[in-house]
Amino acid sequence: MKKLSLFIFAALIFCGCNSICGKENHTGSGVKYVFLFVADGFGENHYKLLKNEAGCPALDQFAFARRTGTLNFEGKVTDSAASGTAIACGVKTYNGAIGLDKNRMPVKSISKEFKEHGYKVGIISTSPINDATPSAHYANTFNRSERSLIVHDLYHSGFDFFGASHFYLDSRYQPQEAEYLALIAQKYQVCQGSKWDQLKPEDKNFVINRMERNFPGKPRKTPALADFTALAVKMLDNPGGFFLMVEEGFTDVYSHANDSGALLRAAIDFDRAVAVALEFQKQHPTETLIVVTADHNTGGLHFLDNYVPGETSLLYQQIQLSDLQEKLVNLYLQKADWDLFERTIVDTLSLGRITPAERNELKNYFAYFVKQQRKKSKNKDNYVLPDTLPDLPGKNHSSTLAFAAARLRDKRNGLAWEGTGHTGIKVLTFAKGCGEKKFDRNDLENTSIAGLIREIVFQK
Ligand SMILES: [Zn+2]
Repeated sequence: MKKLSLFIFAALIFCGCNSICGKENHTGSGVKYVFLFVADGFGENHYKLLKNEAGCPALDQFAFARRTGTLNFEGKVTDSAASGTAIACGVKTYNGAIGLDKNRMPVKSISKEFKEHGYKVGIISTSPINDATPSAHYANTFNRSERSLIVHDLYHSGFDFFGASHFYLDSRYQPQEAEYLALIAQKYQVCQGSKWDQLKPEDKNFVINRMERNFPGKPRKTPALADFTALAVKMLDNPGGFFLMVEEGFTDVYSHANDSGALLRAAIDFDRAVAVALEFQKQHPTETLIVVTADHNTGGLHFLDNYVPGETSLLYQQIQLSDLQEKLVNLYLQKADWDLFERTIVDTLSLGRITPAERNELKNYFAYFVKQQRKKSKNKDNYVLPDTLPDLPGKNHSSTLAFAAARLRDKRNGLAWEGTGHTGIKVLTFAKGCGEKKFDRNDLENTSIAGLIREIVFQK
């Protein structure tokens, strides 16, 4: 008898949370609350950077992180549409496809299955609500750029909560945001801004408000992704359960821009949003599953030999690089002298003392910057440029000066980016709660996620 109870005890431990999850709900699995977090463009090194430079108290609570393949159905580097569809629907498809398989046939997302099973469903993104990652959950279109069709699919989705920064507008029909909102308001309580106390859980809610990042030189004035996540939980919480997908889109945006400092800010926001789910899980430990993944790697961030964990100056970056670039353009229009340019760059990126070689490098980029601005603004300036300019990487890019300065800072910090596009490097998937052990394997693909959730929650 003693042996038998020991065996049962061991079996319970071996089976992990699955064995302690309740069996009371309508799907029979006992899994009532499922969170799916997607950090866009967030690779393994992005995660390491966050962990080393700012800490990630939420992601630290996950027992494991498993490498996950992201290539599209042709084995090529994915975009957010193909990977969004893979994560949401469990099929590999072509780049640009939203909720369609490689033969352009519609496929059902896990979110729609949750809806059919009586769960409430919520979708949140810091990106536009009709961007690729969120739309893969509720839309089926040949191409991610069909912005208006995607909004119509949202309107017909029957989902219970949407939260996002804004819409992508459709340039062919020139709809205004107001037109999209008027359509959606026929079925949803629409809230623009942050008067959230007016929202009621019994309504379907659509909340739109820019989610800014928080920088030392530009503190956030709007709700963060974590605030949206907490609001969604409040609106969706019900005895029948809910499924909530939360996307951080700026990890991708800043990786495309090779803006390491801003990437870190977006990653911190992402971790804080995950913390909201973990807090909820504490109240419902036997009924909750949290999955955290990324749709692909962007930029190929890597560490150089001189990288010392925790010693970079990234958290001192005052504003995002595109805002620095805007400042530099204004200085150009004011015909500021080089010293002011240098001081602005040094202060914004916390560069401290710069060496003559670094100054020379920046001045070379400055020459290209001036040439670009002359073309753009037709401004008559007095800057004296060398007759021949050295051939520099990315020299003609409009944001070159700010980004050259950031590259210099990154090099000092032992960081480098391979490029500005997506890469095929695997990403990480974390899972915690009911059925988490099913994710603890080495052959995960982005398509595995919907299947495993289906298996755990719907037991099929
Ligand atoms: Zn991207």
